[in-house]
Amino acid sequence: MTESKERIIEQAEETVLHTYNRYPVVLDRGEGVYLYDTEGKKYLDFAAGIAVQALGYHYPGYDEALKEQMGRLLHTSNLYYNVPAMEAARKLVKASGMSKVFFTNSGTEAVEGAVKTARKYAYQKDGRNDHEIIAMQHSFHGRSMGALSVTGNEKYQAPFRPLIGGIRFAEFNNLKSVLSQVTDRTCAVILETIQGEGGIYPASEEFLKGVKALCEERDMLLILDEIQCGMGRSGHMFAWQEYGVKPNVMTCAKALGCGVPVGAFVLDEKAAKASLVPGDHGTTYGGNPFACAAVSKVFDIFEKDDIIGHVREVAGYLEEKLDGLAEKYDFIRGRRGKGLMQGLVIGGRSVGEIVLKSLDKGLLVITAGSGVLRLVPPLVIEREHVDEMLEKLCAALDA
Ligand SMILES: *Cc1c(COP(=O)(O)O)cnc(C)c1O
Repeated sequence: MTESKERIIEQAEETVLHTYNRYPVVLDRGEGVYLYDTEGKKYLDFAAGIAVQALGYHYPGYDEALKEQMGRLLHTSNLYYNVPAMEAARKLVKASGMSKVFFTNSGTEAVEGAVKTARKYAYQKDGRNDHEIIAMQHSFHGRSMGALSVTGNEKYQAPFRPLIGGIRFAEFNNLKSVLSQVTDRTCAVILETIQGEGGIYPASEEFLKGVKALCEERDMLLILDEIQCGMGRSGHMFAWQEYGVKPNVMTCAKALGCGVPVGAFVLDEKAAKASLVPGDHGTTYGGNPFACAAVSKVFDIFEKDDIIGHVREVAGYLEEKLDGLAEKYDFIRGRRGKGLMQGLVIGGRSVGEIVLKSLDKGLLVITAGSGVLRLVPPLVIEREHVDEMLEKLCAALDA
């Protein structure tokens, strides 16, 4: 017999460092787009492990590919070559039209790599150590010191100063604000193509194109963080592809491995040619055969089963239903997002409470920023799951 939920939670709190106020649920297994807790309760998953489980749970062929690789080789280090890393890199380069890949173990590490690439790119030009990076207010790029330094959130940064120097913040979707932060030492601009944690704000086309033009004009690198909005979630493999604005550096993680911890930073030819060289960067685990077998399989599945075509189809339906919801409840002030990355803007009611009530009704949803209910389901949801989500969410809202 499994231990009671209360006992498991109590034991976890005894030993696991309390850096999260967790929801009182002990998840045990997943199937398709559903999760089950240790008491057998079923949840429709519109959180996907924070936009990670793009293929849901036990997608046909995925587990088999991992088991196959597990039986062969888990890890070798980066001192040697391995086939899964070569294949995963090739597929990521093809999907992005970019040039070179460095695999990491997480999103925050991908951002560290992007920041180091920008610093090195500028350093090799003039040998100076005073280069600046412009980041956005309300951004989120991760919790390690470099990524935290470009995360525009005072609450996250305050206890950990001094952070890395030379970071200036501009207002997202405001080109004038970015321009006002440019100096002769600026080497890069970093932003999320669609801000996630900050409250689901897509970049405007005018803004993204303006920043790109500015970066080209001044030979600064454009770093687009696609960790949350990438891998098909927006209805394009990478959200920037819709805008026709290609970054010099892109960061990926979350759904890149669909459950296996893996990230990457990807460079275009210009950045790859004139930045990191042997000795500049490394990782013991990054790009290991197991993680890369997952990445490789994910790209195969996306192509074979046209996951992106499916996202576009079902996202239209989801948007229509969410807009209807915003009309029905006056505390839902609106909807923002693209594809299967959607936020409902809530006013005058606690979003945390809505999340808890949804849990009670068997629906997993999460928050973003303050006052936004975030919906980032597996990309493989069907219309019937959208209907089920609505039913459960309405029950939670009416409770
Ligand atoms: C989640 C996230 C990160 C950090 O990724 P971790 O794997 O948690 O380190 C960085 N940027 C964005 C946009 C994210 O959503």
